This record gives sequence, structure tokens and C-alpha cells, in this order.
Amino acid sequence: MTALAEAPAPDTSVPSPDEWEAAVGAVRALPQDAQVLLVCHVNPDGDALGSMLGVALGLRRLGFHNLQATFPGAGSPPVVPEPFRWLPGLDLLVPAAAVFPAPDVLLCFDAASASRLGDLVDRLDTAGAAIVLDHHASNTRFGGIHLVDPGAAATSVVAEGLLARLGVALDPEIAECLYVALATDTGSFRFDMTTPAVHEMAARLIAAGISPGEISRRVFDTRPFGAVRLYGDVLQRAQLEPEAAGGVGLVWTYATLDDLARYGQQPYVLEPLIDSVRIAAEADVSCVVKQVGEAEWAVSMRSKGAVDVSRVAVALGGGGHRLAAGFTGRGSVGDVVASIRAQLAA
Ligand code: AMP
Ligand code: MN
Ligand code: MN
Repeated sequence: MTALAEAPAPDTSVPSPDEWEAAVGAVRALPQDAQVLLVCHVNPDGDALGSMLGVALGLRRLGFHNLQATFPGAGSPPVVPEPFRWLPGLDLLVPAAAVFPAPDVLLCFDAASASRLGDLVDRLDTAGAAIVLDHHASNTRFGGIHLVDPGAAATSVVAEGLLARLGVALDPEIAECLYVALATDTGSFRFDMTTPAVHEMAARLIAAGISPGEISRRVFDTRPFGAVRLYGDVLQRAQLEPEAAGGVGLVWTYATLDDLARYGQQPYVLEPLIDSVRIAAEADVSCVVKQVGEAEWAVSMRSKGAVDVSRVAVALGGGGHRLAAGFTGRGSVGDVVASIRAQLAA
């Protein structure tokens, strides 16, 4: 055997053993009364909330009792989207304005860049240590300790890894949080990153004693009747542009604050719309442009594979994954869609 063959294969696992050790060491070094702040990205989705609360519950199980969980813009009291209002660990949520000014440790969930932390971004500097758990390929490697796995289907995959290394066994409450995160980011186990490892993790979570049917009903299949009517209006105005994106096609629609007001609905009800728009077979790229302010729009983009929409989103100041990405657009709907069209043609 040659010396070369005997050399250990370089460890390319992500996060690296050193990164896991740094994160576990940072937590283990803390006294149980340490101030621990957990933060997820603005407008939190199931992965952001589920990963954050799952780890928060795990830390509580380890005896930490000075725990705060929050997200940018969390008011007093913090309000999470209706489908997540039953999640275990919500009692740990605090208003963004009330968080520790200089926590002993900060754990950050599902944020690809520091800007996704909004006004809480300064805690990255004031915290004793900042541990970033994420799975975006576009992650900018902000913060001190990186638990970033672009191959993971959800941040909760990384969260489960951290809890296991801290010696926290899955209980039904932690499992519910991590399952919501995994199910949301994989589109209920339909998207491409639904690997054997994803199903194995789901199996571990279900074996911990949760009810996937009940969770899916609450998270995906329950919306107010007004939302059903609103979906009708928004889908009715969808536009198909078969020539866009170099000929692979674009389908898009938009929803305004007026639309929400007309049906008395909250912005969260617009999130599933992209799934109805993207079924249009004639377009590879789909997008929903959702008004969040006078001239400000939250844009959701999806691709069926021909286009890397994270490239488009990053070019327009946002981020995400190859097949699912987003950004904040400015101006009119027309301006926003024109900017997307231009990027798709680039
Ligand atoms: P969404 O369309 O909101 O489900 O988001 C799809 C993906 O794009 C997620 O991975 C988000 O993290 C990412 N994303 C959405 N909006 C933004 C934004 N304004 N900035 C950075 N990333 C975003
Ligand atoms: Mn997210
Ligand atoms: Mn995610």
C-alpha cells in the first residue's frame, strides 16, 4: 500500500468536525443561568420557527433557564403566523425590543445573510459567541461559528445534529418543531432535496411520538374562508409569458395590501399561492409579488430546474436556493416584474 493510499481522506463533511466542536464547546462552556438568545429570519417560516423553537426546547431540557427566542419585528406580544400558533416553545418568544442587549451566546436560524436579522443584527457583535445554523448555498458566512450545510433540506437538519451532539434526546415537543421545519422546506417531502436522509430524519421525528397528519392539517391545510376567495382573485390575474427566461417561460401574479384588506386577511395567507402558480406547465419560472408597503414587495420565485432563481434573487438583493428564492422589490408591480424579466434574460 502506498503512503498516499494510507493518508486519511480529507474530511469534506459540512459542517466540519471543528465547526461542530466549536458550537458544542460554546454551549457547554456556558453556566446554566447564561443569557441565551435565539433568533430566526424576518417573516419567519416553518423552518425558521421550527428550528429555533426545537433548539430552544432542547436547551431548556439541558437546564438553561435564561432563554429568549425572537425574530426581527416581533412585537409585544410577538405574533407568529396563524398556522404556527400551536408550536411548542412559543412561550419562549419575546418582543424584539426586549431581547438581551449582549447575550452570552446567540444562535441564529435559517438566515442566509446578516440583513435577514433586521434590527437585531447588532447582537452578532454584542453576543459572547454567535452560532449560525443555516442551509442556504448563498449563506454569506456571517457570525463566528458556522453550522451551514447547503446540502441540508432544512435548517432543522442542522438543528437536529446540534441537539444530538449536545446529548438532547428527541421528545414529542422538539420533534414537532423539527418536523414542521422539515415538512415546510421540503414542500411536504416533494422537492428534489427529499433524500433518504430526509425520510430517515422524518422517521426519527415520527418515532418520537408526533402525528404527521394532524401537523399537516394545521400547517398546510387550514386557512380562513376569506383566503379562499382572495386566492381566486390573485390566481385570476396570473400572467403567462412563454418567451421569457430565454424561452422556458415565466408565470407570475401579484397581491396587494388592498387585496388583503378586501378579504380581511393577514399577509401569511399569501405564502401558499406560489405553489398554485408554479403548476403552470408552460413556464419553468414562477413568481408571486406580494405587497408589503407603499412601494415595497416581497417576491417569491420558483424554478422547475432550467433556471437558477437564486442567481436572479441575489442579483436583485435577495437570496435563497437554486429552485426557490426571493427578494424585496421596490417601485410598482410592473417595475418589479420588469427587473425579474431582465435578470432572467441576462
Ligand atoms: P419564499 O418564497 O418566501 O418561500 O422563500 C424562498 C427562499 O428564498 C427561502 O429560502 C428564503 O430564505 C429565500 N428568500 C426569500 N426572500 C428573501 C429575501 N428578501 N432575502 C433573502 N432571501 C430570501
Ligand atoms: Mn426560511
Ligand atoms: Mn430553510
